[in-house]
Amino acid sequence: MKSVNKVNVAAVLMVGMALMPALARISASPAPVAQQKHQAPGFYRMMLGKFEITAISDGTVTIPLDKLLLDIPPAVLKQRLADEDMSTLVETSINAYVINTGSNLILVDTGSGPLFGKDGGRLFENLRAAGYPAEKIDTVLLTHIHADHSGGLVHNGKYAFPNATVWVNRQDADFWLNPENIDRVRESEKHTFPESASSFRPVINAGRLKTFTGKTQLLPGINTLPAPGHTPGHTLYLIESAGQKLLIWGDTIHSSAVQLPDPDTTISFDWNKTQAAKSRKTVLEQAVKNNYLIAADHIAFPGLGHVKYREAMAGNQRGYRWVPVNYSLSGLD
Ligand SMILES: [Zn+2]
Repeated sequence: MKSVNKVNVAAVLMVGMALMPALARISASPAPVAQQKHQAPGFYRMMLGKFEITAISDGTVTIPLDKLLLDIPPAVLKQRLADEDMSTLVETSINAYVINTGSNLILVDTGSGPLFGKDGGRLFENLRAAGYPAEKIDTVLLTHIHADHSGGLVHNGKYAFPNATVWVNRQDADFWLNPENIDRVRESEKHTFPESASSFRPVINAGRLKTFTGKTQLLPGINTLPAPGHTPGHTLYLIESAGQKLLIWGDTIHSSAVQLPDPDTTISFDWNKTQAAKSRKTVLEQAVKNNYLIAADHIAFPGLGHVKYREAMAGNQRGYRWVPVNYSLSGLD
């Protein structure tokens, strides 16, 4: 018995001594570890047939949707946002898309460049992080002329894509690049004229601006699909490779939480609200019926997904919902 007790005492002492440093560490205040406060480089990649698609983040901008969205009762607006755990102040993604066809390196929309301050303008660094620095881009396609889509044509005061041709619908170029039209828009939209002038001047001076009209093929597998209303020449791009189709839809939707269930909802940035709502509903029907993969400039990054019907709504109003792509690490070979 005696010898057993001695062993136990020794064992307890040994365990106690082993624990002491750990106990001391727990009782002392922990060393501070700096929080990192930034996201990973903003790009996301997937294949479309033989084409490689890379979503690029330009940043986010927080906007008061209760002040900007129109043609929807305020209570319904609030409920739609509450359904997705949002208040009326919504942090909204600004996305752009790179298509590597194997022959061309195409950028669709350019983010806001210097025009949104620190809310945007990250496209340039995120292109580099994605392996496609701006000088490698050979074609820029614009869905329309607005600060958060064409502002990124300029970087550090120069044309940001020195080896690229820029394509835009002629109706948008004729409208926004002619200062005589400034009296044809609401007061809140007049800023687009000086912004457009500063964004396009370096492109025009470099002789790199080209325009198109209507439905046309710009490059193999790259087709235009005009959907006017948000701006006079607002255009979608239908991308097709090996039977797979992607619709890059620009500003068809500014708030997926509100405008998908209630597609008649317009936004104060719309140049022609009635035409914008009509185009949106046509595009949404096409998106569902063809089950297009969608790339959406203002749906939460990477803005890639599909549109489905919601359950039938009152008054024969069709409602829609967003199904984001499933995150994938495979399938890029
Ligand atoms: Zn726009």
